[in-house]
Amino acid sequence: MFDTLSDRLTATFKNLRGKGRLSEADIDATAREIRIALLEADVALPVVRAFIKQVKERALGAEVSKALNPAQQVVKIVNEELVGILGGETRRVRFAKNPPTVIMLAGLQGAGKTTLAGKLGRWLKAQGHTPLLVACDLQRPNAVNQLTVVAERAGVGIYAPEPGNGTGDPVKVARDSIEYARTKQYDVVVVDTAGRLGIDEEMMRQAADIRDAVRPDETLFVVDAMIGQDAVNTAEAFRDGVGFDGVVLTKLDGDARGGAALSVAHVTGRRIMFASNGEKLDDFDAFHPDRMASRILG
Ligand code: GDP
Repeated sequence: MFDTLSDRLTATFKNLRGKGRLSEADIDATAREIRIALLEADVALPVVRAFIKQVKERALGAEVSKALNPAQQVVKIVNEELVGILGGETRRVRFAKNPPTVIMLAGLQGAGKTTLAGKLGRWLKAQGHTPLLVACDLQRPNAVNQLTVVAERAGVGIYAPEPGNGTGDPVKVARDSIEYARTKQYDVVVVDTAGRLGIDEEMMRQAADIRDAVRPDETLFVVDAMIGQDAVNTAEAFRDGVGFDGVVLTKLDGDARGGAALSVAHVTGRRIMFASNGEKLDDFDAFHPDRMASRILG
């Protein structure tokens, strides 16, 4: 997804190679190139501004290092700033002291929440947990079936309304699932919620009602990295309407530019916790800002 950005940054750094001390004009030109590369990759403007300001200030003030030549020094600064924009350190799941830990998924329809529930279930299971997936998306006709199939595939528990009872109350399902998890000794509950195609008041209200009913330890905002600048707007709407603790980027295997999704952490002040890069259950991992920065910088 970040190949073009990666190529452009590599080309920019190449121009610096072989230079002795970097002049202010060199740094200005480099900053301009990086700015264009980030904007073309769809990174949100406030993020680009903050990024360039930091890189310029640090590059101008950089001490002459014996170990690194000027070009390497700029790459190092860009790398560190990129890691910072992406959230710094890896943000791990906070598990509750008294199980079950409740993880709620929120996001637009099609963002990949149901798929993610399966991936997260499998990931949690591999870490020694006993997860229960809860079907609270009673809006999309096939969502309950889809979650049931995904849970079976992941080898984890499922809590869903009876078939044919798809018009049930998602808040009640969510509330009851916690009691069920306690009795059946599930230690993590993953609540899948309904999304809509666009930002919608009723969807927000329902997600907020579910949140109030289950009081999640972690609310994760799930966002499709392919939707471009809408990723940032949607994230802000969910932050204000439901609130969330962390972000999950999906569809990083797509060929869109993806920079907007990378801006979500900086814009909302919430870190990216997981990334999905395919439809299979294994196409998923914790998000590591340093690894993503290295991937982007090639
Ligand atoms: P929901 O409406 O938020 O529950 O979204 P779904 O989980 O149903 O996902 C919507 C579509 O995106 C499905 O066709 C998924 O197979 C697909 N999908 C989900 N995650 C990924 C991903 O990381 N990469 C790709 N390529 N497709 C994905």
